[in-house]
This record gives sequence, structure tokens and C-alpha cells, in this order.
Amino acid sequence: MATQTSQTNYDLAANKNKLISINPANGQVAGEVQKATAQDVDACVQTAWDAFHHQAWSGLRQDQRATVLYAIGQGILAERESLAALQMRDSGKPYKECLHMVDSAAGNFRYYAAVCETLQGALTPARGEYFSMALAEPFGVVACITPWNSPIMNEAQKAAPALAAGNAVILKPSEETPQLAFELLRIAQQAGLPTGMLQVLAGDGEDVGAALVKHAGVRMVSFTGGTDTGRAIGAIAGQRLIPVALELGGKSPHIVCEDADQEKALAAVISGIFGSAGQSCVAGSRLFVQRTIYKAFVNSLAERTRQIRVALPDDPTVQVGPLISLKHRQRVANYVELARHEGGEILAGGMPPSGSELQQGAFYMPTLIDGLSNSARVCQEEIFGPVLVALPFDDEDDLIAQANDTAFGLGAGIWTSDYAKAWRIARAIQAGSVWINTYKQSHIATPFGGFKDSGIGREKGIEGLKLYSQNKSIYWGLHQAPMAL
Ligand code: NAD
Repeated sequence: MATQTSQTNYDLAANKNKLISINPANGQVAGEVQKATAQDVDACVQTAWDAFHHQAWSGLRQDQRATVLYAIGQGILAERESLAALQMRDSGKPYKECLHMVDSAAGNFRYYAAVCETLQGALTPARGEYFSMALAEPFGVVACITPWNSPIMNEAQKAAPALAAGNAVILKPSEETPQLAFELLRIAQQAGLPTGMLQVLAGDGEDVGAALVKHAGVRMVSFTGGTDTGRAIGAIAGQRLIPVALELGGKSPHIVCEDADQEKALAAVISGIFGSAGQSCVAGSRLFVQRTIYKAFVNSLAERTRQIRVALPDDPTVQVGPLISLKHRQRVANYVELARHEGGEILAGGMPPSGSELQQGAFYMPTLIDGLSNSARVCQEEIFGPVLVALPFDDEDDLIAQANDTAFGLGAGIWTSDYAKAWRIARAIQAGSVWINTYKQSHIATPFGGFKDSGIGREKGIEGLKLYSQNKSIYWGLHQAPMAL
């Protein structure tokens, strides 16, 4: 497949101060936003600090802050369909997935409104000589840098708790999907968020993103994206001694034991890797099947995989839409070529689809690979596409050794009818989220994040709020007499 770098004839050169978003389903322009550069960062950070010091937000009572956060969530829901349609054009995701992400974005604001209203600093009971209390204070200005695979949801997952904690937030969305962050900003302003408390800087990562991370006025960075980018951001944050939260990549094992409900496991394995065309950080991209059922299970899986409907994102029957860009499709195709080169057998997919209405888009067929070992590069590196590698295992020890033999540790799925075994495996797997007899479920109150190279810190739940505040302990003396030496 030839590498194509442009999907459109739009005159990019004439729009230097615009960031053009391309619809990956058809190569057409999906929209444009104001493009920021590193030179814009200074003014943006200053505006954020001015807003923070003005205390129109951090000075509010918690219930007042909660009212605005709740209104942002309701504002998102009020525009549910149009936001989902915009996200579909921006990212190429199927419409129904986009609806789910918009709902999730609204859910973040509603949840952190409730948490913000109810959570107070912990007060230690009086001990006679003093009492002490732990306060949670905002950092001031935080930068939130997000990827392209779940626009609005990723931005909401950071902005809602960061604002709830009282910070001024600068959002840096992906240059591939910049539009939804501006919609979120508009809705937040309509909901009454004071000016300057939320700003959006859309631009290139190595330019505006890096400038934000380096800026002395940015006191905390929350990043979701690739592990290499996370490592670079973490290194700068380490030098600057500012806290950083990193939600990074994965290579999650999806495990099917011989005593599993195979029908349910099949369906979950398919949606676990091919949902969002594999562009999900928790995609179950390494399938481990017990050797006793391996052949039969993988044969059924191959047959089902060939039947998956790859279609335009607005087609109501779509199961898998396009990848984010032709460039990314080429990267995925290169990995499949590498798998062939390493001795893998392609049981399904392994090429773009043939349908004529899909030719302008970045589509790639759901792909199943057999015949490799866990040490193959396609088993060790994140492909972020619809590519599943099947691997056999003999017993629990063999399984745990293989499943944990990866630099990543984001998610894992286990299918078995033996609850004791499920518990043992779940405890032994090095991953931030483990699903037993289900996969990729997500709850706003349940923390999410990675072990090992999959990240640092936890989003969602109370943990997600704590990321954005620093503790201050206050001891209040009750001495009647001066303290003795
Ligand atoms: P990416 O790392 O290329 O980019 C992410 C963001 O970082 C973008 O906004 C980009 O402009 C910015 N950026 C790039 N270089 C930068 C730099 N030097 N300094 C500051 N910012 C910079 O990732 P991507 O390709 O947009 O997204 C795919 C990756 O995101 C995958 O690895 C996926 O696993 C990961 N991801 C992780 C989670 C999670 O919760 N763990 C969720 C979604 C996606």
C-alpha cells in the first residue's frame, strides 16, 4: 500500500494560522480551528493566573462551583447529537461510539460536581494541645494534553476534576481532533464558568504542547497519549519538580481459559480489540487462549472476524469505522507486514477493505494473526489499530509469565467459570484495570490508570480529583501555656 500523506486538496499552506481537521472516513475537511503556537503560551498562562488570582472560581464555595460544573454536564447533554456528529466527522468514530463519549464527558462533569460539593478537607479530632486539618488546595494553573482517540471524553476527564479542585485549566487537544475542545469551552462559558478558567490552545505537540510543559507558570501537567511522549513530558516535569499524571499506551492481554463461556468470550474478544478500530488504550490486543481449546476458538474467531462490517461511521450497521488518518493506517499496515515477516499467519484481514465508498477513507480490515510468540514485536509494541495476535498458553504459571511479559500494564481481561482462578489471575496480572467475564467496562467512580510503562497516577473517582490538588496541613495550637523546650 502506498504511503499517502495528504487526504485532501485543501490549501493548507494558505491557512498557516488555522488547524485543519480532516474527516478520516472520506478525506474531506471536517472543520478548522484557530491554530496556536509556542508564542501564544505565555499570554494564555498569564490569563489563566489572572483568572485564578481573581478568585471568581477558586474563591467560590464548593456548592457554587458544583452548580457550574453540573450545568456544564447538562449543557453537553443538551447538545448530545450535534456534538456526537461533530466528533464523528473529526475522529471517524462510529456515531454510536461518539454518543457514548459525549455522555461520558457529561458524566465527568456531573460526577465531579457531586464530589466537589460533598468532599471536604479531613479534620483531625482535637487532641487537647492542638487540632490539625488537611486542606486540599489547587495548584493554580494546570495544563491538560489529550490524544485524538476519544475527543471530548478525554478532555472532560481532565477538565472536570481539575476545575472542581479550583484550578485554571489550559487544554491542549490533539492536532488531529481539535474541534470538540472548543465546543467544551463554549458550553462551559455558557454554563457560567468565569473567563480564563478554561482555555484551549490547539497546535502541534512539539511546539505548543512542549512549550506548555516547560512554562514556569504551569504548575501541574496531566497528559494522555503515547508512552514515548509521556516519557518526554515526564522528564521535563521531573526537571521542573512539578507533578505530572500520565495515562499512556497499552498491550493488554485478553485471556480465555478452557472453562470459559466461549460464546460470551468470543463476543468480548472481538469488541475488546476491534471496537474503535483498535484505537483504544485498553484494546485487548494480545489474545491468550488455553491450548486445549486454542484451535477451535481461534478458528471461530477468524470466521467471526471476517464477518465484521467495516463501513462509514454514519452507517447504522457499522461495526468498525476508519483509523484516524492514512498515515496511521500505513503504520498499522507496516506492523502487519512485520508480523508476516516474523512468521505470522494472517487468519483474517491484513489489508484495507475493497468497498468503493470506503476508498477515500483510512479503513483497515479487522486482522487476526496466529503463529507468533509473545516476544514478536507485534506482541510487544502498541499498534493502536484493529490487529489481534492469538497466543496459546498451557497453565496458569505459563499464562501469567506471558501476560506480564510486556513493558505495559494498562488492562487485562479474564474469561473463566472458576472464580478462585479468576481471583488468582487478577491478582497476579500487572495491570491497572482487570475485567473478569466482561471487558472494557468503565465507571466514573472507579479509578483508571496504568502499571509500568502505561502511566503514573489514576483518573476518575476520588483519586482523579486528588491529582489536581496539593495538601496543606494546618496545626492550630490550643496551648494555655507557652510550649516547653
Ligand atoms: P501522542 O503522544 O502522539 O499525542 C498526545 C498529545 O500530546 C497530543 O495532543 C500531542 O499534540 C501532544 N504532544 C505530542 N508531543 C508532545 C510533546 N513533546 N510535548 C507535549 N505534548 C506533546 O498520542 P496520540 O497518537 O495522540 O494518541 C495515541 C496514544 O494515546 C496511544 O499510545 C494510546 O494508548 C494513548 N492513550 C492512552 C489512554 C489512557 O488512558 N491510558 C487513553 C487514550 C489514549
